Amino acid sequence: MVVIGAGPTGLSAAYHLGRDAVLLEQTDRVGGWCRSIEDRGFTFDMAGHIMFSNDPYVHRLYEMLLGDNVHWQDREAWIYSKQVYTRYPFQGALYGLPSDVIKECIVGAIEARFGSLQPRRGGDDGGGNGDDYTGPERRGMFEPLMKRAPRYKGAERRRPVPHKGAPRNFEEFIYKVWGSGIAAHFAIPYNRKLWAVPLDEMETSWLGGRVPLPNLEEMIHGALSPVAKPMGPNARFGYPLRGGFQALMNGFLPHLEGPLHLETRVAAVSPSRHQVTLDDGTALSYEFLISTMPLPRLVRLMGDEAPADVRQAAAELRHVSVRCVNLGVGRENLTDKHWIYYPEDTVFHRIFVQGNASPFCNPPGGFGLTCEITYSAAKPLPVDGDALIQRCIEDCHRVGIFGPDDPVWAANQVDMPVAYVVYDHSRAANVTLIRDWLSSQDIVLAGRYAEWEYYNSDHAFVAGKKAAEQVAEMRQPPSLSYPAAVTLSAK
Ligand SMILES: Cc1cc2nc3c(=O)[nH]c(=O)nc-3n(C[C@H](O)[C@H](O)[C@H](O)COP(=O)(O)OP(=O)(O)OC[C@H]3O[C@@H](n4cnc5c(N)ncnc54)[C@H](O)[C@@H]3O)c2cc1C
Repeated sequence: MVVIGAGPTGLSAAYHLGRDAVLLEQTDRVGGWCRSIEDRGFTFDMAGHIMFSNDPYVHRLYEMLLGDNVHWQDREAWIYSKQVYTRYPFQGALYGLPSDVIKECIVGAIEARFGSLQPRRGGDDGGGNGDDYTGPERRGMFEPLMKRAPRYKGAERRRPVPHKGAPRNFEEFIYKVWGSGIAAHFAIPYNRKLWAVPLDEMETSWLGGRVPLPNLEEMIHGALSPVAKPMGPNARFGYPLRGGFQALMNGFLPHLEGPLHLETRVAAVSPSRHQVTLDDGTALSYEFLISTMPLPRLVRLMGDEAPADVRQAAAELRHVSVRCVNLGVGRENLTDKHWIYYPEDTVFHRIFVQGNASPFCNPPGGFGLTCEITYSAAKPLPVDGDALIQRCIEDCHRVGIFGPDDPVWAANQVDMPVAYVVYDHSRAANVTLIRDWLSSQDIVLAGRYAEWEYYNSDHAFVAGKKAAEQVAEMRQPPSLSYPAAVTLSAK
């Protein structure tokens, strides 16, 4: 059994496969995008990474991987806009924003649910009927607020074409579900910045539980008084005390029973011969192949062996890249926040406060920050190299997270060419077509970039486990009905 990639998915798959797995990793360390780097005493992750899961199985895995090298904190997630900090999610904590912004957000959310508050001609009071989706079309709900809303860079207004029924794309979802005020002041500019692709080119199946929907009562409450720090299991996140997020990945190493080959890149895959070729020319046969590498690349490695429609589908899959600018500042405790979203005109859309993930991520007297910048063909990096670092430092000064008098002890960049998969309208059909053909070739896809899904590392752990179970099932002749629990029960 060959597993391509020793990120969280490949590690989990190899762990669950036991002695049968040969794990191939192109870099010199395990962890994939969950690796960490060290620079002048600072530990930085490859973009901000935290541990969070509601799955008891994942929590057992956390314990196995980290033991007591972990600490749990109540999250401090904030947004910086209009020169004030408000708690995340934006719609639930408007307190502190300018009063006209608060009014637009609340009126917009009410109108999204009940219809326009503007009196209608002919004596009709315009009251809503509770139909979220017919309101905009019949009452033109976007119009009045969009005219009043102030303009700022990165938030150019484009009136969505209203229509009946459920939102057809992410942009419509934002207007119809959250309303025009939240759309204008946070959701549209932030998501345009983050996704780096037009939002009407995205569908919404990926939102799942990720996007909190507005509750009007809570929204009004959160506008009138400061919102308390979120508490409880859903507000808590874990992080390795020592060693950065990498420590969670390294936790697999003592548990792998099969061989792990680092600095070993798969350069070609031949489904017909059931063979992978490494970049040094070595050929390796497999019975089943589990791939965790990015799906379009896997298909490219097969050359003409992949049918034309599969190659076409793979070529259509879209992604967004992330550049992290890591800054090690020579002052302790710059902020008590864990991460901050920036919907306005900073080059970065988020700062992950690495220095608060664990105190051991900082050298004495220092404090680490990761500025995250997405880019794509539609939204290239505005500058690169040292100029990008300089731009981040200047933007940090501008938003006040540290000042010109604070020394920058460390500054480096990490590039993540395939970071977010884009849920465009053809993604699901394309992935299904590719996956079905690969499955007929004894190739199982697992993980965020192989399944082209918005997975976090906890989902990746589960995806690796499922792939191992799937292979175990595929190996057994149906008549034997081999109990997967025999090999996998302890895991
Ligand atoms: C900006 C950002 C923030 C995130 N934040 C969080 C977070 O807070 N919490 C969280 O849990 N998750 C987070 N994630 C998600 C997490 O990083 C992914 O879910 C996880 O890395 C996916 O693991 P994977 O093993 O499927 O893929 P990867 O991590 O990409 O691992 C794939 C591995 O395959 C290797 N590989 C590729 N091609 C080849 C080849 N040809 N030959 C050999 N090896 C190859 C790669 O080197 C890599 O090691 C975040 C992701 C991003 C982009």
